Amino acid sequence: MNEFELIRRYFERPHARSDVALGIGDDAALLQLPPGHEFAITTDTMVEAVHFPAGAPARAVGFRALATNLSDLAAMGATPAWATLALTLPRADAAWLKDFAAGFFELAETFDIALIGGDVTRGPLTITIGAYGIVPEGKAIRRSGAQAGDRVFVTGALGEAATGLKIYAPESRGRDRYLYPQPRVVEGTALREYASAAIDISDGLLADIGHLVEASGVGADIQLERIPAAAGADRQMALTGGDDYELCFTIQPARVEALHAAWHDDWAPLHDIGIITKRRDLHCIAPDGTLWHAETAGYRHFQ
Ligand code: ADP
Ligand code: MG
Repeated sequence: MNEFELIRRYFERPHARSDVALGIGDDAALLQLPPGHEFAITTDTMVEAVHFPAGAPARAVGFRALATNLSDLAAMGATPAWATLALTLPRADAAWLKDFAAGFFELAETFDIALIGGDVTRGPLTITIGAYGIVPEGKAIRRSGAQAGDRVFVTGALGEAATGLKIYAPESRGRDRYLYPQPRVVEGTALREYASAAIDISDGLLADIGHLVEASGVGADIQLERIPAAAGADRQMALTGGDDYELCFTIQPARVEALHAAWHDDWAPLHDIGIITKRRDLHCIAPDGTLWHAETAGYRHFQ
């Protein structure tokens, strides 16, 4: 199977988007952006044995590679629309490719995303996805918009993916969560009407709140008893475990009631975990008022 057959067989799929003027097959794709909107563009690379365990199921590798990119778009409040896929493969393994494509398109179809191009090369298993979203001009949620007095919220429960990695047992909830993260796309697009700043939780809650407060030039007081730990996750895992792909965002206190009113029952649940401070550091406060010191650093590639 040559590279063109491989692309045709596994990656050329019909889609329903009318804004793709030209998709896979030419030197570049052509897209139409609706008037009054901006592109939100993100890229993530996944390397076998670095970002996922060697021998992980191919369906999960395809699903998760797209999910992490969609999570970044969600944290901007952007609606995902298109994706590109650069695939580096040690060999053209038909069974692996079929499962990989099944995982990728399962998620792509859920959110009406067209695969519009990519690349195929030979080498150690590496997946680079570009995801392209649409957001009304000026409405994207940045990391830098938090202000003193804003409430700090997270969606869902934290630390579940970390329990999956530790145990790595077949059929644990944590393992499923790690392999098939659910990007908070619907929640993220709703948040652009409410949030003052947002980030997705890929490196661990404290590390990612750290990025948000640093970008905003503020700090935060986080109430430890309010952190929504997943079943089986201890406090350390909930605070520092990565890979959950929940959203962390800030919101003006006057907007909180409207947020709760707009929030759908079947969306990831909201948890108010603290407040943004003028003081530029991060405090984790135990119920008795003492400061709790956690190892805040998330995963770092170069250290
Ligand atoms: P070029 O040599 O011009 O870069 P390629 O041979 O790499 O073209 O790709 C041919 C076409 O197939 C292009 O439109 C490219 O975007 C698309 N393509 C290549 N790899 C993939 C892939 N993994 N998934 C989807 N489309 C792909
Ligand atoms: Mg090419």
